Amino acid sequence: MPNTIHLLPDHIANQIAAGEVIQRPASAVKELLENAVDAGATEIKLYINDAGKALIQVVDNGKGMNATDANNAFARHATSKISTIEDLFQIRTMGFRGEALASIAAVAQVSLKTRRAEDEMGTAVEIENSKVTETSAVACPVGTSISMKNLFFNVPARRNFLKSNSAELKHIIEEFTRVALAFPEIYFSLSSNGQDVYHWEGGPFKQRAIQVLGNSYQTKLVTVGEKTDYLTITGFVGKPDTAKKTRSDQYFFVNRRFIKSAYLHHAVANAFEGLIAKENFPSYLLYIDLDPAQVDINVHPTKQEIKFEDDKIIYSFVQAAVRHALAQFSVAPSLDFSLDANIQQLDAIQKPFTDEKYNNTTKQSLYEGFSKKNQAHLISRSENASKQDWKSFFTDIPTANESQEAAGESYIVKASSMGLYKEGNPLQIEETASLVQLHQTYIVAPSHSGMIIIHQQLAHERVLYEKFQKASAQPHATQKSLFPVVLELSVSDAILLEDIMEDLAIIGYEIEPFGQNSFIIQGIPADVISGNEKNAIELLLEQFKHFSGDIKFSKREKLIRCMARQMAIKAGQALSHKEMHALIESLSDCDIPTITASGAPTYVEFKEDYLDGLFSK
Ligand code: ADP
Ligand code: MG
Repeated sequence: MPNTIHLLPDHIANQIAAGEVIQRPASAVKELLENAVDAGATEIKLYINDAGKALIQVVDNGKGMNATDANNAFARHATSKISTIEDLFQIRTMGFRGEALASIAAVAQVSLKTRRAEDEMGTAVEIENSKVTETSAVACPVGTSISMKNLFFNVPARRNFLKSNSAELKHIIEEFTRVALAFPEIYFSLSSNGQDVYHWEGGPFKQRAIQVLGNSYQTKLVTVGEKTDYLTITGFVGKPDTAKKTRSDQYFFVNRRFIKSAYLHHAVANAFEGLIAKENFPSYLLYIDLDPAQVDINVHPTKQEIKFEDDKIIYSFVQAAVRHALAQFSVAPSLDFSLDANIQQLDAIQKPFTDEKYNNTTKQSLYEGFSKKNQAHLISRSENASKQDWKSFFTDIPTANESQEAAGESYIVKASSMGLYKEGNPLQIEETASLVQLHQTYIVAPSHSGMIIIHQQLAHERVLYEKFQKASAQPHATQKSLFPVVLELSVSDAILLEDIMEDLAIIGYEIEPFGQNSFIIQGIPADVISGNEKNAIELLLEQFKHFSGDIKFSKREKLIRCMARQMAIKAGQALSHKEMHALIESLSDCDIPTITASGAPTYVEFKEDYLDGLFSK
């Protein structure tokens, strides 16, 4: 008896495997686009003919491949993205199975052209029936171009199963859109039968959302943004009036991977309850990001379903985040967006902060801001010189004792009217000295020759004012927002913001125009605690508009004054001992510590003699 078992030839095995990965032109489109994304491309162009049946070509400007890799890329299980089993749990690329190109090469005639930036010549490879038929060195741009012709030319049964061109084209556009929505920072274009269908410049999420959903969504999106240690949810939901009878415009991305999830859809629908008619569907575009170890993307070959380590938490977060967003934008002002009681018991919610994170947060407090003292010490030569001038200016004014003698009046000395340096700086206070905060407004401290009472808000205003002023010479450090905040303003406010944007940048606010009267806050000053940047800017504009100071002030001066006033700790805020010391130290480091920019004294000194006098018979 002859043996009956034999190994399938590679190209047959690949064809069978290909059935899983490449079901229709759109699946090939998805794989090729994702490979381009994984290659770090910033520009990805898709060309199709005949709804992908005749041609699918993706051209990217990513990192390209060398000649060997170009030849190996089409082998089954050829991947550069994982090498150990552990890698599977830390996947940050779209692909990892090494199946896509092998599958494509099994069912279409493929040509590849690719070049890395460091290579002078690129590589061209031709493949048919899974075999490399030709390879040569070619001149080509950096990046990769893969074209596949005559999909399923060698599997007629499959070819016959393809739907009409319009149906297949619809699938292609769907995949194209999903990838483009997941990566708004990348330029994407699509042309079909030589005609331009889309070209979407890279930019912020909202811009991409509007490119995809249409201009009418400009004012119809509510920003969602919730952040915990466990996961973040960002994106947009359409205002209730954008709800539709069909399930279009509903997108979930988990770690930038489009997923379908009836369960999470339910969470959103639930959040919209009472706001839209039962038979309508809300539109949404939600991005969930979490530690890759918490999700299993390996459960389905086309990777649209996903398994979460704990999907109850995800459900609850999605629902809470959407409710919160709707409530914040007063679409639903009275909604209660607290988490379900059961969910609140869960550990991940109970302890959203690790100790380390907690420490980092508290470190961003006033104390940290002050104790860095970086700006105060960054005094350039010329600034030192002006400090000298300032000193001599004040030494001409009678000192406390002299003026008291001259006028025979009280020993109480307002800082604003005396030369500190002649008397020694009363703000130089021992670190061990105990300070008292009075009415959460004043700090009482012993000084060389008596005691001083510092007004915490006014003192901080001076500190910030000088810090911002110095930033003009040396721009203030910016911290990039992880989730840029979108600001939608009235026409007049938008013009105003436009006007002061440059100055805000110097202070550390990175704001970019973002379509009609909208702006996106990409970064905030390094020492401002992030979280309510939107509010801060709105308030700033308000103050700026009503700035009562002299008209002669420059725009920047006004801005700096507003900022200092706005960001100063307020009267009524409890300060720790450390914070009080830090505040006094920063004030002491100021060029003009005695008064605020608008002239109010920052502290008052009571001389020992005066105190003595109070108690004499
Ligand atoms: P996977 O994406 O799962 O790794 P693929 O079959 O899609 O598998 O691709 C195989 C390999 O070919 C990738 O791991 C990558 O190294 C390389 N590759 C594919 N497409 C590109 C591209 N556009 N640019 C650079 N390298 C690519
Ligand atoms: Mg891939």
